[in-house]
Amino acid sequence: MEVVNKDYAEKRRRMVDEQIRGRGINDERVLRAMEEVPRHLFVPERMRERAYADEALPIGEVQTISQPYMVALMSECLELRGDESVLEVGTGSGYQAAVLSCLAREVYSVEIVEKIFLQAKERLAKLPGYENVCVIHGDGSAGYKKEAPYDRIIVAAAAREVPEKLLEQLKDGGILVMPIGGAFMQMLLRVRKIRGEFREESITSCVFVPLVEGL
Ligand code: SAH
Repeated sequence: MEVVNKDYAEKRRRMVDEQIRGRGINDERVLRAMEEVPRHLFVPERMRERAYADEALPIGEVQTISQPYMVALMSECLELRGDESVLEVGTGSGYQAAVLSCLAREVYSVEIVEKIFLQAKERLAKLPGYENVCVIHGDGSAGYKKEAPYDRIIVAAAAREVPEKLLEQLKDGGILVMPIGGAFMQMLLRVRKIRGEFREESITSCVFVPLVEGL
C-alpha cells in the first residue's frame, strides 16, 4: 500500500511539473494543492492508472472529471487567498471541490445528478482534510441561496450565458469563472463584479458538459 501511494505521489509531482507549472500556472498555493490532492481516489478504480494523465476522464453517468490543467487554471483564475467562501456548480467527482478546499475557507458544491452527488459526498467525507466542503444535491444554475452571497463562483458545466441568479449571488469584488458557448466548444470566461457592474475576460477555449437548466 505504501509503495503504491509513493508511486502516486511521484506521478502527481510529475503531473504538476509537466502539465501545470510547465504550462504557465504559477500560483504557488494552486500548485501545492494539486500536488496534495490524491486525484486517483476521485476516479473509478479501474481508471486509477490514468488518473494523472493529461486528460479528462469518464466517471460514470456520462460525466467526466476535468483535465488536471483545467482544474488548476480555473482555480488560479479565482485568485484565492484562503478566506473566501466559494460556490461550485457541478460537483462531479468532487476533485475540483477538494482542490478548492485547500485554497479557500469554505466550499459549497452543488450537483444535480443524485447518484453523482451521493458518490462525491461520501468520497469527500471519507478522505481526511475536506471538512470545509459541503456537497448539496440540487440545480446549481439557480445558485445556492442559503449561503449566498459568495466571494467566488466556479461553474464546471457550460451554458450560452451566465445564469442571472449566479451573478446575483456573487459578492461585490467577487469573481466568477465559467465556460460559455455552444455544445462542443466554449470560452472560459472570468467575470468580476465591481461596484455592481460586470467586467468580462476571455481566458481560453475549452470543452465542458452542458449545464442543465430550468428543470
Ligand atoms: N468539477 C468536476 C467536474 C464536473 S463535470 C470534477 O472535478 O470532477 C460537470 C458536472 O456538472 C456533472 O457532474 C453534471 O451532472 C453537473 N451539472 C450539470 N448541470 C448542473 C446543474 N444545473 N446543477 C448542478 N450540477 C450540474
